[in-house]
Amino acid sequence: MSNVKEDKKYKIGEVAKNIGISVETIRMYERSGILLTQKSQSGQRYFNENDLHWINCIRRLIKEQGLNLEGIRRMLALLPCLELRPCSEEEKKNCPAFNGAIVPCWTMKSKVPISCQDEDCCLCSVYQSAIACENLKKVLYQSNQEKRPLTKLEV
Ligand code: SF4
Ligand code: SF4
Repeated sequence: MSNVKEDKKYKIGEVAKNIGISVETIRMYERSGILLTQKSQSGQRYFNENDLHWINCIRRLIKEQGLNLEGIRRMLALLPCLELRPCSEEEKKNCPAFNGAIVPCWTMKSKVPISCQDEDCCLCSVYQSAIACENLKKVLYQSNQEKRPLTKLEV
């Protein structure tokens, strides 16, 4: 189940001001596929508290861990979507996100099986697990354990 907090919605300019970065930087995160934007029923793009938390986390990954956008994207590609959002063996077999993906599953939406295409990635436990940020440490740790199966992450 999603843990998205629905209490407050922010426009991109408000997010930029709150975090102290430019609107263009946020747009760059969106273009690179590491940040998704939600849309209201009227089509207005917005961010919520979880997104702010994730953008702050991105800033720390860049400044403190020395990652660049490509590094973050590759890290997100390691998220075990098939464990967090179970899919069938048949779906896995035909899914590019399962077969050696180097980009996050939500960036190849048109190529994943239909059951995943029908989901809103912003609300999916896989994306929400990533933007919780703390879970990424587990993903990184487990990616360094040779031939060790990934265990379910806390979402
Ligand atoms: S992206 Fe592919 S492997 Fe991941 S949950 Fe969806 S169908 Fe399964
Ligand atoms: S719904 Fe989107 S984020 Fe969730 S597993 Fe499928 S492609 Fe990935």
